Amino acid sequence: MKRLLPVLLCILLIAPGVAAFEEAGSLPVVDRYRILEGTELENEITVITGAEDGPTVFIVGGIHGNEVAGIEAGKRLKAETSIVAGKLYIIAPANQSGAAAKKRYVDGAGDLNRAFPGDPEGDNAQRIAAAIFGEIEKLRPDLVIDLHEANHDLGTNDGYGLGNSIIYTNFDDVGDLLFSFLLDNEAGNVGISKYSLVEPGVAGSVNRTVSRLLGIPIFTIETLTSYPLEQRVADQLAIVHYALRFYGLE
Ligand SMILES: [Zn+2]
Repeated sequence: MKRLLPVLLCILLIAPGVAAFEEAGSLPVVDRYRILEGTELENEITVITGAEDGPTVFIVGGIHGNEVAGIEAGKRLKAETSIVAGKLYIIAPANQSGAAAKKRYVDGAGDLNRAFPGDPEGDNAQRIAAAIFGEIEKLRPDLVIDLHEANHDLGTNDGYGLGNSIIYTNFDDVGDLLFSFLLDNEAGNVGISKYSLVEPGVAGSVNRTVSRLLGIPIFTIETLTSYPLEQRVADQLAIVHYALRFYGLE
């Protein structure tokens, strides 16, 4: 007991200080809630709230289950991100069955990124799309960031390659941010790979539908799978953090 007492005293002395620190609003608050609750498609959204009011950013990673850098970046953002202002929502992997099987498509259904804005009565891809689209419509974030990967460099593979690119649909929504990023990327200040812009998002993608149906700014990161995984994850995180700083969350 002799050894325990000082420890107990320390806890008693420190605890009120910690409480006061949290009450003062100096730490971000991390919360979680479920979508499609009670169904086989149930998924979790993490919410990180900064101490000060500010913009809302919504991040969706792993719409394609085999695009592991976006899924890993999403996991690290949930665990490690600390913001000073606003709110950050993160869902990753959005396609849980595809991620578990390391496959692009939703198990038993099609391509989640061709299923937006979705259908709550449709197949599993359409149901997931409807739930995520519904959250974005309800929250009306100031920016949505969509994390993907591509197997071919931009412009190769008969023009279908998207590697090392950032996709937008409406330049007016995200042009200032993306132009600023490109200059810093070109100067070697952010990101390891060099990125290019490409537009628009394909039909049925979260990028095109959030942009055109909701008028909410959105961009999609496409890292190139032939590069080392840590480099791809580092680039995903660097671009996300660049956007969070640009919007004043960090
Ligand atoms: Zn993808």
